[in-house]
Amino acid sequence: MQRLKIAEILRTEPVNTSVLVKGWVKAFRNNQFIALNDGSTASNLQVVIDLENADPAIVDRIKFGAAIGATGILVESQGKGQTVEVKAESIEIYGDCNLDEFPLQPKRQSLEFLRENAHLRFRTNTFSAVFRIRHALAFAVHKFFNDRGFYYLHTPVITASDAEGAGEMFRVTTLPLENPPRTEQGEIDFSEDFFGRSTNLTVSGQLEAELGALALGDVYTFGPTFRAENSNTTRHLAEFWMIEPEVAFCDLTDNMNLAEDMLQYVIKYILENCAADLKILEDRLLEEEKSKPQDQRSELSLTEKLHFVTENKFERLTYTEAIQILKDSKPNKKGKFQFPVEGWGTDLQSEHERYLVEKHFKKPVVLTNYPAAIKAFYMRQDEPLEGVPGPTVAAMDILFPGIGEIVGGSQREERLDKLKQRMHEMDIPEKELFWYLDTRRFGTCPHAGFGLGFERLVQFVTGMTNIRDVIAFPRYPGSAEF
Ligand code: ATP
Ligand code: MN
Repeated sequence: MQRLKIAEILRTEPVNTSVLVKGWVKAFRNNQFIALNDGSTASNLQVVIDLENADPAIVDRIKFGAAIGATGILVESQGKGQTVEVKAESIEIYGDCNLDEFPLQPKRQSLEFLRENAHLRFRTNTFSAVFRIRHALAFAVHKFFNDRGFYYLHTPVITASDAEGAGEMFRVTTLPLENPPRTEQGEIDFSEDFFGRSTNLTVSGQLEAELGALALGDVYTFGPTFRAENSNTTRHLAEFWMIEPEVAFCDLTDNMNLAEDMLQYVIKYILENCAADLKILEDRLLEEEKSKPQDQRSELSLTEKLHFVTENKFERLTYTEAIQILKDSKPNKKGKFQFPVEGWGTDLQSEHERYLVEKHFKKPVVLTNYPAAIKAFYMRQDEPLEGVPGPTVAAMDILFPGIGEIVGGSQREERLDKLKQRMHEMDIPEKELFWYLDTRRFGTCPHAGFGLGFERLVQFVTGMTNIRDVIAFPRYPGSAEF
């Protein structure tokens, strides 16, 4: 007999037909009622054992966590809580589960404990919900771009360039660590390395995506990126997935519109397609918030927060305006910020971003036109702006409640002379990026794009507080288990 997935069974009418189901035991009540889950849905299927004809040796092995198969008749359920159930005619045990040794127990266990047991945490309701939603979000991202005529471009994971100009990369090498070849000056000789040069894991696919956009028009990347920064926060991973659209003939405003449309589209997709999983995560978050003092609890439930983002326009303002708001803010005047906001030109700290989003505007915020000095070399230089003390670039960051920065993007500098001048100021050798500069030499055009941290998006949608709980096997300082 063909096995049916539980999601499919729960969609069908009970027609008194025979079915075969397979899954893991979530609960076993009164030696008769099995709650079975196979991962296809958040819901369990009730399998009822025929007490008179069941083999006691088999019944004895039906334990929390065991993998079993059941054949029986699908009928309308007598009990509350489900519409259909399976009257089992035979049960097969595929894998026993000894509760004395199984790390997971049929009770609520802490997220910290489950992180240490990340190989098993998929078995919990919380984590199966998180990973089903993560999948659905990835699918929605591809659907959004495909429906708009974007091409999915696969940019390299191993790269010789450092797009951000920051020294936060993981080196890739096959040179012997104990005795590497050296140059006459005594430095490690990377010309003898695998690629004949020094290489790293990519921090971003943007520069390569720009090359694609200047011929294909609209492209996006969606792949793993790596940062060797020693950030032990709830929002940073050493290995994370980034979505980076790059669009030809596009300015900063088009870019903001694209990012806002995309975020609202994928969140709406989850609201429409993942209600049962969202319910599990909403209840979890409510439980977590009970341990917080009243004034730190969220005013909105998880689904309300998601609706709020899909139904309201994001607040757009310049960096310069944001600095003024922060300077005049209560926490700044009362010395409540750890980093006081003194003046124009400094980078915003996470506490400042969160103040703007969570306290001042109470909705997602898009900040634009940052000081050139705190942004990357490739961002387009603005004309001097009225009342703004220094040079700015056409950058935009999107800040989300509870998350802070979720998107970082810009219109790119398409003018060769301006780009070269900026690279010179920032000590970036032209020779290394000759290929990037070539796009500005031959048929250059205005273009823009952004990077969306996929895990930060999954965090927002699932309400999980720690980024390490929305990627299957998190990599962070001191940890690369599994
Ligand atoms: P942050 O200031 O939060 O460290 P960033 O300015 O370094 O972010 P970008 O280099 O602009 O971020 O990267 C684009 C996006 O990638 C960010 O908006 C964020 O969503 C995500 N991101 C950046 N660093 C990380 C990280 N270490 N772990 C997970 N996501 C990240
Ligand atoms: Mn960073």
